[in-house]
Amino acid sequence: MTDAPVVAVLIVAAGRGTRVCGTRARDDGATGDAPKQYRFLAGRVVLARSIAAFENHAPIHAIQVMIHADDRALYDQLADQFHKLQPVQIGGKTRQQSVYLGLQALAKLRPDMVLIHDAVRPLVSADLISRVIDALHQAKGVLPALPVMDSLRRGEGGVCGEAIARDNIYAAQTPQGFHFTAIMAAHEQAAAHECADGGHEFSDDAEVARAVGCEVALVPGSRDNIKLTEAEDFTFAERLLMDSADVRVGHGIDAHGFAPGDHVMLCGVKIAHTQTLSGHSDADAGLHALTDALLGAISAGDIGMHFPATDPQWKGAGSGIFLRHAADLVRAEGGRIRHVDVTLICEAPKLGPHRNAMKQAVAGMLGLEENRVSIKATTTEKLGFTGRGEGIAAQATATVVFGGGT
Ligand code: MG
Repeated sequence: MTDAPVVAVLIVAAGRGTRVCGTRARDDGATGDAPKQYRFLAGRVVLARSIAAFENHAPIHAIQVMIHADDRALYDQLADQFHKLQPVQIGGKTRQQSVYLGLQALAKLRPDMVLIHDAVRPLVSADLISRVIDALHQAKGVLPALPVMDSLRRGEGGVCGEAIARDNIYAAQTPQGFHFTAIMAAHEQAAAHECADGGHEFSDDAEVARAVGCEVALVPGSRDNIKLTEAEDFTFAERLLMDSADVRVGHGIDAHGFAPGDHVMLCGVKIAHTQTLSGHSDADAGLHALTDALLGAISAGDIGMHFPATDPQWKGAGSGIFLRHAADLVRAEGGRIRHVDVTLICEAPKLGPHRNAMKQAVAGMLGLEENRVSIKATTTEKLGFTGRGEGIAAQATATVVFGGGT
């Protein structure tokens, strides 16, 4: 194994488990009775959280997701926000078949290691991922697991039966890690058996590997890395996320006066008007207010400190540069932009028809889903400088979360 192995991740999301109820569904009903991995957990789709855990982990090179054919539209809604995703693949009839198909899809990347993860464990931490990868430098297979602490009893018909010894009993988690060639060979053999004699459905990939004599090392799992199975698990996971989240809100204000011209730039969109906005850059008051809001959320000064108006390189610059820079600073600090809200204040031009275009532009610049971007417009009832038509003002807030899952 080289010092910097190529590490791929295979996320199995082809299951049909829909028994969870009472979880918030998207307002448009898109996830009304969707499988667990497409339900919302504290405001973000479970599968998106699982993907993000690996997307944000530098040593991971590529992520392959296996889905059910019926979930294509749900998957497409969340895939855009990630860069490490390989073209999605449709899973097989069983989890084991889905993993084998996924390994075949990843084979062309020639990864050294592969981590196989269940989509319904969205709280997997960076520490746990690192622990599995590190252990793969010594072992061909790695299983994160926790010793079972509760006493174990057999039970039947609501009656307590005999105690089961729990010495050396572990609860298995994912991601389970393997040298790619080792797990590929193990799955090939399992698939060959399946063709020959109906085969045997293994409980997980560690079992598939062990069946061909591959030794699988145990590393400590994590209590937080729970598998979302029942409605209660969602409640518990949401509580974990809320308790560990550090939410910060930044605020920004900007204004620019009108000058002769034929259009204004607002939130990255060119809008025809009888005047333009004057300023050193393109005078996009919306993006300037939002840039300040992002900088405010990480206490990193204001737009003037980062892009001085005295610096000739910003003359006429598109303000998207400022916004992207602020977003990069937020991410460098470990923050995740969760929501932005911009209010544009003017009598004219009419902004309603451009609202969606502005939303799309800002979402694109920040790499956010559009439902996390709000663009509003108001007038000041002809009062003040905006009311007199002397210019346009903007206010913005940005909500940034540190910690608390992906
Ligand atoms: Mg400005």
